[in-house]
Amino acid sequence: MKKPAAPATAYKPSDTSHVRRQRARYSIRLWSVRRARLFEGVYNALADVFLKLHPIWNTIGYKRVEYPVMLVEKSVKSFLFDCRMCGQCALSDTGMSCPMNCPKQLRNGPCGGVRANGNCEVEPDMPCVWVQAWQGSQRMRASDNILKVQKPVDQSLRNSSAWLRVTAQKAAERDSMSETAQ
Ligand code: SF4
Repeated sequence: MKKPAAPATAYKPSDTSHVRRQRARYSIRLWSVRRARLFEGVYNALADVFLKLHPIWNTIGYKRVEYPVMLVEKSVKSFLFDCRMCGQCALSDTGMSCPMNCPKQLRNGPCGGVRANGNCEVEPDMPCVWVQAWQGSQRMRASDNILKVQKPVDQSLRNSSAWLRVTAQKAAERDSMSETAQ
């Protein structure tokens, strides 16, 4: 009697690896960290432009421009850095590696669980964001920024624009300095 044909199996692409596919999720983030010096320059230039535009933000109202600026910031930073919109951006202090991608959300260095291959103990396929942060910081001009102690995350600032907040802070500092000088 003729043996029935084996049932067709689901299509499985050849030469695939679960680990490689997982790693692909982090590839843009890792690419950005490798270009930390370039992004440091871009960020500094952008911060200067934002500060120059302070009179416009002020006239329109920071509250009014918050939402559209936040949307732009979110799209750019989510794509490049897997930003979680904590609202208190630490990228320029952490080698362009976003600390909010740490499963433990540590803001001041790695836990004791980094694997021998530099990956995370919670997500074994993910390179530890703090190992990446150290490597990225060493490529930056302000390489010592990584030694700054970061404040605990203020959850009330989640989904707000860090760009605008930093601009408003810098403008207030600049104004108070010029008042003191007079
Ligand atoms: S530190 Fe915060 S704002 Fe900066 S990239 Fe990470 S989640 Fe986004």
